Amino acid sequence: MDFDLSEEHRLIQETAYRFAVNEIAPQAKECDRAEKYPREIVRQAAELGFVGPTIPEEYGGAGYGFFEHSLIVEQMARVDLGITQAIESAAFGSQNIVFFGTEEQKRKYLPPLAAGEMIAAGAYTEPDAGTDIAAARTKAVREGDQWVITGNKMFITNGTVCDFMAVFCLTDPQAASPYERHSLILVESGLPGLTATPIKGKMGLRASDTAEVAFEGVRVPVGNLIGKQGQGFKQLMHFFDATRTVVASQGVGLAQGALDLAIAYAKERITFGRPLINNQAIQFTLAEMATRIEMARMATYRAAWLVDQGRPNPKLNSMAKYYAGETAVWVCDQALQLHGGYGYIDEYDIQRFYRDAKILEIYEGTKEAEKMVIAKRTI
Ligand SMILES: Cc1cc2nc3c(=O)[nH]c(=O)nc-3n(C[C@H](O)[C@H](O)[C@H](O)COP(=O)(O)OP(=O)(O)OC[C@H]3O[C@@H](n4cnc5c(N)ncnc54)[C@H](O)[C@@H]3O)c2cc1C
Repeated sequence: MDFDLSEEHRLIQETAYRFAVNEIAPQAKECDRAEKYPREIVRQAAELGFVGPTIPEEYGGAGYGFFEHSLIVEQMARVDLGITQAIESAAFGSQNIVFFGTEEQKRKYLPPLAAGEMIAAGAYTEPDAGTDIAAARTKAVREGDQWVITGNKMFITNGTVCDFMAVFCLTDPQAASPYERHSLILVESGLPGLTATPIKGKMGLRASDTAEVAFEGVRVPVGNLIGKQGQGFKQLMHFFDATRTVVASQGVGLAQGALDLAIAYAKERITFGRPLINNQAIQFTLAEMATRIEMARMATYRAAWLVDQGRPNPKLNSMAKYYAGETAVWVCDQALQLHGGYGYIDEYDIQRFYRDAKILEIYEGTKEAEKMVIAKRTI
């Protein structure tokens, strides 16, 4: 057993952190305040192989594993989660194509995604189907050599900026198992009947585009089906088994960034004639923050590493994602408290971290959904 990072891993970490400090940090406040999607930064990140880093080299990607992907995301999230999410999700759903797509789909979509020339979205959630995704009702009916799609999707990351989305559709409503009724279908933006409406006013993650998407008889070729008909639910679970490790690393990185801010502030702030950090109560809080972050990091690294070994562990993935998300929320709360009144002001980055953190307990499976997975595999 070897817990050390390789030279290559360290280089990836350093490159990602330097990119975050030099390119992401200067834009973070403005993108958050103006809810601005950072299209140019996504392009720059792609040049370093940070967009869809697990896309195989033969399709123009960096060919990294989920472990390397987690390292990259962790370092970027230390600086800003909103822009990190914009970069990470630019190739959202590409794994569905990598795992289950046809050769034609791979050649068409993966190279431009990895190059940052195309943006993808994964449209699964609906107004009445989130945690219970098997209840999704957006239907795709086959007419000749086309699928005709009708329904509504909610909270779709990149909904208004994407070039295409992988849509979770009801194709086999009569199937006996609720887990064999859906299929994933690729839908390109701009088709007649497709409308994406931005959702503004998010609490956090404001650099990331989020939209409500409506399909009114949208027609796509039958060849846009990903993998086998009726296997969409299983494909989605397989996809989440890999990608949850990356969301967990968002939590680890965000929490580490909040700890970095807290330590810097506690060293500089003077109360009662001495730096705040000289108080043992403050040191103990920082120690607890560091400990929880390290626990979350260990679980995340192991979960990601197992995915790369071809042995994804859904229980550990859910543990890592749930614990890292909860840790990020808790650490940001402590870090903001330590900033006193200044932490409550927009000028200080910690309030953005605090607002951004909450999404980590909600998307790609709420923490309750994660506990359902853990409980099912524990009891
Ligand atoms: C910023 C943002 C970006 C997103 N991006 C995407 C995206 O790109 N693609 C996409 O498809 N979706 C996306 N989502 C949707 C997200 O994945 C869902 O919001 C999430 O899965 C929860 O679904 P819901 O909002 O319908 O909540 P619900 O399912 O209605 O749940 C409400 C609450 O009840 C809890 N709950 C539900 N059922 C149970 C139960 N049986 N037992 C105990 N507790 C339960 C949940 O954990 C939650 O706390 C995004 C959401 C946001 C906010």
